[in-house]
Amino acid sequence: MQMSKQVIGIDIGGTTVKIGMLSDSGDILDKWEIPTKKEKGGAGITADIWQSITAHMAASGTDKTDILGMGVGAPGFIDGETGFVYEAVNVGWKDFPLAEKLKQDSGLPVFVINDANIAVLGENWRGAGNQAKNVIAITLGTGVGGGIIANGQILNGENGMAGEIGHITVELGGHLCNCGRRGCLETVASATGMVRQAMHEAKEAPVSLLAARLRERGEITSKDIFELAEMGDQASQQIIDRTADVLGLVLANMGAMINPSKILIGGGVSKAGEQLIDAIRIAFEKYALARVSAICDIKAAQLGNDAGIIGGAFLVEQKLLNVQF
Ligand SMILES: [Zn+2]
Repeated sequence: MQMSKQVIGIDIGGTTVKIGMLSDSGDILDKWEIPTKKEKGGAGITADIWQSITAHMAASGTDKTDILGMGVGAPGFIDGETGFVYEAVNVGWKDFPLAEKLKQDSGLPVFVINDANIAVLGENWRGAGNQAKNVIAITLGTGVGGGIIANGQILNGENGMAGEIGHITVELGGHLCNCGRRGCLETVASATGMVRQAMHEAKEAPVSLLAARLRERGEITSKDIFELAEMGDQASQQIIDRTADVLGLVLANMGAMINPSKILIGGGVSKAGEQLIDAIRIAFEKYALARVSAICDIKAAQLGNDAGIIGGAFLVEQKLLNVQF
């Protein structure tokens, strides 16, 4: 009988690169991180990655012939077919042939997609998605990210922009977004967006707990908003309700396109409150077509920081072994 092979999952971020050795069923056998060296336009990152992997393989007695391939998630604009990075601002890459470089270094098959999309693959393989064929995933953190699986395939799009849920316009002429446009979902539903709402709300309702917290600490976090709402503060509750309403509307509109069985909500903001997920569910049901909401579960994502490396392992198996959701 042939020994089952291991798979390498890699999640490249602006501060660290997460690397994992996984079994072919997606169990993490070993995982570690190395710093992302952004000097010289990130030219040394791929060599650092392969060097660190060979060291771990030597320590565990793993031979290169035991490895099926590498699946990589990277930030920025990426061609999912070729693994070419058009631009990754927070790593320093511009027109960087990421898959090619890693292939040259390692001699292994390498597949690269966007970091948000690879996390969705992981979450759907071994996390809350339960291998659904049609999934919308949304990450609420300092920004708003997302990814879409349709008919069992992650949507990368023509030049890597599919699933950029955070940049759906929800407010014409709204607040300025990092992308240079105005009124994106990210300006409302990210931690930053919620805090901006809170600053406004504290002014409108000077006797609220929210206003008192702001006076006391000089700042408000998204965590404060959930905590104060839990204590019965109306001003804070309104921010959560408004945020959930906008998210519910966007997801209902996307539901008319994708018709998912799962909507997965992850990221720091969602961790701060199950309240938010409940409120999103209510708004989604209010706005969505009845048949769309009837078939769709809204759930919290489960895998956290491991989603990327697990998704990397899945990507390799999907490409090389035709493993399907
Ligand atoms: Zn935007």
